[in-house]
Amino acid sequence: MKIAVLPGDGIGREIVAQALRVLQRLELPLEFEQAPVGGAGYEAAGDPLPAATLALAKAADAILFGAVGDPRYDALERAKRPEQAILGLRKALGLFANLRPAQVHEELTQASALRPEIVGGLDILIVRELTGDIYFGEPKGIRRTDTGEREGFDTMRYRESEIRRIARVAFEAARKRKRKLCSVDKANVLETSQLWREVVAAEAKTYPDIALQHMYVDNCAMQLVREPKQFDVIVTGNLFGDILSDEASMLTGSIGMLPSASLDASGKGLYEPIHGSAPDIAGRDVANPLATILSAAMMLRYSLGHPDAAERIERAVGRALREGYRTADIYTAGARKVGTQEMGEAVAARL
Ligand code: NAD
Repeated sequence: MKIAVLPGDGIGREIVAQALRVLQRLELPLEFEQAPVGGAGYEAAGDPLPAATLALAKAADAILFGAVGDPRYDALERAKRPEQAILGLRKALGLFANLRPAQVHEELTQASALRPEIVGGLDILIVRELTGDIYFGEPKGIRRTDTGEREGFDTMRYRESEIRRIARVAFEAARKRKRKLCSVDKANVLETSQLWREVVAAEAKTYPDIALQHMYVDNCAMQLVREPKQFDVIVTGNLFGDILSDEASMLTGSIGMLPSASLDASGKGLYEPIHGSAPDIAGRDVANPLATILSAAMMLRYSLGHPDAAERIERAVGRALREGYRTADIYTAGARKVGTQEMGEAVAARL
């Protein structure tokens, strides 16, 4: 099985190296090929998503992605900015379903900003649509109005077929969990959301075993901090999902703990931590590699057909945490503070 390895920028290289260390220790027939992406892609080929990198990603069975983004490239025109690489990969590979689990490891309950009784044992899955919505809707731009004032505009759009396919992913995911699905929209204000709600409700008829609930996004944002354990699976559009999944990540204590999968219709996927390239801590061996290591586990489960190996990695992460290993972002007094490499080695040694 061939894995395209795209470390990207900032801490991307450091955390992906640790995920590779763990994967290589499994002794599975995995082949790795690296290529530059993001700022690194721009440096190598004048393009955040070089043609050769895209070709490698297309040919591979799965993609392990670090993070992209570097303030050095912030002044470039939009098409050349590192973050365009991730949008381009999602679009080119048809990665429409983003799965973001937010679990609170028992050992890290204290790291959450919320009280232990609110987050202890939390296990939710956010299914975010990834290739539509206001991020991709046309027309968009900045224009002059009649009065000469500048006006920015974007277009929120969803087709029935796009809503239906993400709803199916979410219903199927709920079926493997607690059979509860909450669809999040803003149907009291947005036409797009009214259609979203209608299509999800129609799809629910095919899944009579799943308890479906609809919730407005503002309420959901509030409920996620008030009583997050009421949720099992949440399905929502690209914009709302972007925000809610980051909010959910903070329930767990650190953005450095959360993996994600972006899947196409056939189950091929791109696996990456939910955080960015963290330029503020890059190159200092302090970044938490666990989100990337757990992303590699998701890759084994969803794209490579090795659920046992995925569990081995997840158990090894749990063991390292139980034995007190902590990177700076999840450190609490009395624990054993380690850097990126030592955390990677701690997990690899516990497989
Ligand atoms: P970020 O996620 O990179 O960082 C936010 C904060 O979390 C920072 O303080 C950072 O130090 C910390 N952090 C992030 N990952 C961590 C880890 N593994 N261990 C410990 N601490 C960690 O978000 P940002 O600062 O808003 O963005 C930085 C760059 O990343 C920007 O260029 C942005 O566009 C890009 N970005 C990329 C992706 C992606 O590649 N998918 C996602 C989000 C942001």
